[in-house]
Amino acid sequence: MSNLDSIAFHQGEFKPLKDCTVNIMTHALQYGTMVFGGIRGYYNKNKDNVFLFRPYDHFQRLHNSAKIMQMKPPYSIEEMVNILKELVKRNQYRSNIYFRPFIYKSALRLSPSLHDVEDSFSVYTLLLDDYLDTNRGLRVAVSSWRRIDDNIIPTRAKVSGGYANSALAKSEALLNGFDEAIFLDSRGYVSEGSAENIFIVRNGVLYTPPNHAALLEGITRRSIIEIAKRENIPIEIRDIARSELYIADEVFFTGTGAQVAWIAEIDRRIIGKGSIGPITKHLKEKFNKIVYGEEPEYSDWIVPVY
Ligand code: PMP
Repeated sequence: MSNLDSIAFHQGEFKPLKDCTVNIMTHALQYGTMVFGGIRGYYNKNKDNVFLFRPYDHFQRLHNSAKIMQMKPPYSIEEMVNILKELVKRNQYRSNIYFRPFIYKSALRLSPSLHDVEDSFSVYTLLLDDYLDTNRGLRVAVSSWRRIDDNIIPTRAKVSGGYANSALAKSEALLNGFDEAIFLDSRGYVSEGSAENIFIVRNGVLYTPPNHAALLEGITRRSIIEIAKRENIPIEIRDIARSELYIADEVFFTGTGAQVAWIAEIDRRIIGKGSIGPITKHLKEKFNKIVYGEEPEYSDWIVPVY
């Protein structure tokens, strides 16, 4: 996946990934003070072009994350989008790619304070198709770890330090033989996966937990909500109880990595008929066409590189 000779962006320059290093005293390495994004580029063979999916929304969220963490983004949103385009061109990518942009506290400083500590921006790229296997149903488990809440480490901010929480849940799930974890928030309501938002379907209605359920404001989640509205699929944003997961007709994850990934089993209860449900299937197919630039009415979500 990672290619150390690929061109990345670091310390204001485009250079090989192997030369993009930081000092061991770096504030972000010591305290998890980095905010990041994950963005996809999709290669459409017929159009011979790479389409970035909602990069402006992703970088707006990165700027928001930076604001919460008292960081000053070194580049504007427009400049960041241009850096992604330049990375695709310099790497001559004609394939599906994943970008990992981040702003980090780059000072060599002992104190964990945030203000008056310098910030830097870097991006690396990976070749990435599926992050979770989206062709089969996932087997998932409700985590024994609770999601961190807004007054602990805001999940809205996508701070690297907060991902210790995701890492604990993800490893617990994998080591117990599951594919992924579902977090409950501190109140005990369904929050999200370790790196995905979650949707359920009951009696033809789509539900997803609200922003106050300690989740990341996912761009894919926002896209699925918008698609459902335009397609006249009833959608409600409300708290979901754990036991509702077990009796849902359909459950799926959304995320830049996961895309739309359907769930076959939760805590050893088969979801619905144990196969991909009709609403999930429809949304997954629609989403897939949109990201490859095949749906003209969603063309404002994609940015061509070439
Ligand atoms: N929740 C968490 C915790 C995540 O890390 C991600 C991945 N960025 C998501 C949800 C999905 O967000 P998005 O659709 O913006 O990738």
